[in-house]
Amino acid sequence: MNAFTHAQNQLKKAQEAAQYTDNDIQFLAHPKRAVHVSFPVTLDSGEIKYFQGFRMLYNDLLGPGKGGIRFHHHVDEHEVKALSFWMTIKNAVLNLPLGGGKGGVIINPKEYSQNELERVARGYIRALHQSLGPQIDVPAPDVYTNPQVMAWMLDEYEVITGQHAPGLITGKPLEVGGSQARSYATAQGGAYVFREAAKLHSYTPSSTTVAIQGFGNAGMHMAKILSEWGYKIVALSDSRSAIYNENGLNITKAILHKQEKGSLEGFDKEIAHDDLLGLAVDVLVPAALEGVIHKDNVDTIQAKMIVELANGPITPEADAVLEQKTTVVLPDVLANAGGVTVSYFEWVQNNQGYYWTEDEVLTALEKKMVTAFHEVHEKVSESNQSYRTASFMLALDRLVKARELRSR
Ligand code: NAD
Repeated sequence: MNAFTHAQNQLKKAQEAAQYTDNDIQFLAHPKRAVHVSFPVTLDSGEIKYFQGFRMLYNDLLGPGKGGIRFHHHVDEHEVKALSFWMTIKNAVLNLPLGGGKGGVIINPKEYSQNELERVARGYIRALHQSLGPQIDVPAPDVYTNPQVMAWMLDEYEVITGQHAPGLITGKPLEVGGSQARSYATAQGGAYVFREAAKLHSYTPSSTTVAIQGFGNAGMHMAKILSEWGYKIVALSDSRSAIYNENGLNITKAILHKQEKGSLEGFDKEIAHDDLLGLAVDVLVPAALEGVIHKDNVDTIQAKMIVELANGPITPEADAVLEQKTTVVLPDVLANAGGVTVSYFEWVQNNQGYYWTEDEVLTALEKKMVTAFHEVHEKVSESNQSYRTASFMLALDRLVKARELRSR
């Protein structure tokens, strides 16, 4: 099953649960616009190489498209289509005035110099600038793109159009119109969503154990925030090792260890990578890769709650098993939406030309995440569906209504 078929199955489930007809949701069957480009880049050797890039605007009923650009050798049309669809759902769950978009370049960035990557970023914008714009479709960083890449892309767009347009792209460095708190927004948003769910399940921080897979942007900040709130983080992993301490790990020291040694290796007792997922913990936070909980390991999962900071960490087969086991899964379209929510705030600040303090961003983020969680929870209570299906149902309500009002 490719990613887009998986996405369409999730949509079908929500459609049936919410009793929408095929006709009601036919506007979500395909992207509104899918652009596939091939563009030249001069390499450091002087050789010219053509790269393929994509940008899809899946839907813009609620506002301009919004979603990242990834640089990866596995990027393909199905993946970009699925990701742009999921952004449409995520932005609607958070009630952001934004549609869904996604882009990518087929490239292994590790094989190119910084100068070459800059020329790829600029070449992508030269090829696609007519499909992008602060009121058209607004990209952001994704896998293997970062604030520096966003700055190059913004600069290229401004050179082409001859005007300042900081709202073209988000996830920028602060000096060129980025937002405070953007760097840790995904984890902060996930932590707010988790905190609300934990209250409903009467989890108290000191007696709640947490295992986190992935110690990069999302996982490391999540570990830091939850440990500051008093939760007991007993296991962490990165691509090289997984560590465990039943009495709780010192996260400040783990971060220093990772910064000094480049990995968690040797920080505490090591366990097999796969064993982290099956630990007897209260909460599991997958914050690394897609598809890590699948049909062959789902039976080992003991956590009562899973917070999906990664995109798509649970395969559809495993999701069905977890639903039967009544494991509470806080889905990616809700739990990792803090990043796009602060990207939305960045776009608002750019459009106003007025910049917020970190406290102002965090206050607004907390409000958005807490509201979205309770709206989804209300749907769960009404429909007796999972948080994932209820999130899709909430998004569908907003999208279907917007389509009806526009008579489009
Ligand atoms: P990242 O590259 O900063 O970190 C990924 C981490 O996963 C690294 O620590 C890496 O060592 C670890 N990892 C890789 N393979 C692993 C394995 N087999 N077992 C354990 N750990 C492994 O990436 P990130 O930005 O933290 O993103 C992580 C996930 O969160 C992705 O699915 C991404 O799509 C999702 N996400 C991130 C953001 C964001 O703003 N950063 C927003 C939404 C969703």
